[in-house]
Amino acid sequence: MPKHLLIAANWKMNPAPAGFDTPDSPYRPRTDVDVVVFPTFLDLEKCIGAGLVTGGQWGDPKPSGAATGDISMAMLKDMGCSSVLCGHSERRKYHHEDNAFVAEQVQAALDVGLMPIACIGETEEERSAGKEKEIVQRQLSALPDGVTVIAYEPVWAIGTGKNATPEQVENMHAFIRTLRPSARLLYGGSLNEKNAQELLALRDVDGALVGGASLKAASFRGIIGVAGDLC
Ligand code: PEP
Repeated sequence: MPKHLLIAANWKMNPAPAGFDTPDSPYRPRTDVDVVVFPTFLDLEKCIGAGLVTGGQWGDPKPSGAATGDISMAMLKDMGCSSVLCGHSERRKYHHEDNAFVAEQVQAALDVGLMPIACIGETEEERSAGKEKEIVQRQLSALPDGVTVIAYEPVWAIGTGKNATPEQVENMHAFIRTLRPSARLLYGGSLNEKNAQELLALRDVDGALVGGASLKAASFRGIIGVAGDLC
């Protein structure tokens, strides 16, 4: 059965990749695959201006106030963003954002009409201890009911070049599906143009959150091509 996949490009703390705004840019919206880009805050405006479906990498749940250096969900929405990442493992690790805070972010995003992509996933130690499902279940149970997109990103697979195996991905996604049957489930963790086919074709994978490979237009084009063939 054809899929309708969502492919999200997380550019992290990097400039928008060369070619992001050309007429044949692989980051442009399409009818067969949903494509959304997550630039730094500095590049939001130019991505929106170039006609890309654009999201923020982070947003504060409060609409405004004394929070130096931060930006709110409401501000992202006002400037034309359609989505926001919540709970990325780099935010959880380096900024100590916990499940309760991520839940607040997701709810605030939903309240202003943004599509939150809630990121969850276990560390290597947690998987070695056989606790990956327990961790993921705890992260999921903290999320508001209204969340419609969940990215399963095993922390040990992010930026390491070591993607989870198709068996590990399908096993976890099927588990998440039992708990959140109506959410779209993205896989994230060293997905690239070479492994995209075997991961995106899995029954319970509805798309991908792509970091490193989304920074090279040629690699991202390859991923989008694979996704388009599955849709
Ligand atoms: C990410 O940061 O969400 C991610 C999946 O990164 P990478 O693709 O580089 O592993």
